[in-house]
Amino acid sequence: MNKILILLLSCAFWSGLNGQTPFEFNGKTLLPGTKSHFTINISDGQNQTFVPITVFHGKENGAVLGITAGVHGYEYAPILAGQKLIKKIDPQALTGTVILIQTANVGSFLGRSPYINPLDKKNLNRSFPGNPNGTITERIANFISEKVIPRCNYFVDMHSGDAPEDLMPYVAYYQHDEKPGISAKGREIAMSLGFDHVIVLKTTEKDYMKEGLPSLYCSAQAFKRGIPAADIECGRLGRVEERFVEKIVEGIERLLNHLQMTQGTPILSKGIAFIDERFYIISDHTGLFYPLKTSGTFVRKGMKIGYITDFFNKTIEEVYADSSGIILYMLGTPPVNAGETLAAIGVVE
Ligand SMILES: [Zn+2]
Repeated sequence: MNKILILLLSCAFWSGLNGQTPFEFNGKTLLPGTKSHFTINISDGQNQTFVPITVFHGKENGAVLGITAGVHGYEYAPILAGQKLIKKIDPQALTGTVILIQTANVGSFLGRSPYINPLDKKNLNRSFPGNPNGTITERIANFISEKVIPRCNYFVDMHSGDAPEDLMPYVAYYQHDEKPGISAKGREIAMSLGFDHVIVLKTTEKDYMKEGLPSLYCSAQAFKRGIPAADIECGRLGRVEERFVEKIVEGIERLLNHLQMTQGTPILSKGIAFIDERFYIISDHTGLFYPLKTSGTFVRKGMKIGYITDFFNKTIEEVYADSSGIILYMLGTPPVNAGETLAAIGVVE
């Protein structure tokens, strides 16, 4: 062995020893280069649930990335992607730390319940920052807000189309005029995830971004705390489709690369379409919805995209695109109530 090699090896050895300190999480100490699973029990006195979390603590000192799956427990692609990431993320080859909430809303998952936790009928992604003395869902939100989000430098909340939602894959980030730095970093995260479409959530005027008002959304809670954040939406109709699971796994791997938490040259996404305006088509009637288009389709203003019948198969409403753009989301199953969103159309910049 030559002297330079010995020097390099000893430098690597010492940086490995000195570059990283143990990571404390939920009363447990993780040594550099290890991962650990946690089952966090949550109770409101009546109902019990738990939050499964994996923490990967890298060998080298670096950023902390928080990732949530299963905030909606019927959205399976992100949950299964989280399961795959247990093996994909190697703490020995990691710089920094990843806190991965495997299934934030186990009640919704095990109860096969779209949107809401059947234990208290609350939507976790409308319950942030939560309440330590509230219902079970509010306590889950409180745990994530207090014990996970403040530990993170970056945050990604992963969703897909819930049971009735035919949704095209996209990512979204928060744009806030008074927080240009965090907004720009959130945009970078969103662009690194390898999706063709990026939604710009313009939040400067939104109540949920105002101090003193609830943040409602998981990732908005992170953003309000000054943590760059993005949402993934990938998968549809509460189904497991391998290509969407893989797309999420690859997206997180690209993000780790982008944040220099793993080795390799970050891949710059090209040809991303940014969407900063969305139109929602709302149903005027209750009945059966028949979509004539699917998500990801470009439509022109005035194009017929579906119709609604009553319970005796009489057409009571014809549904037209109210603007030209791409269908981000479309109601994909028959039940429809008056006032519900039938489709969301994104205007590509
Ligand atoms: Zn969701």
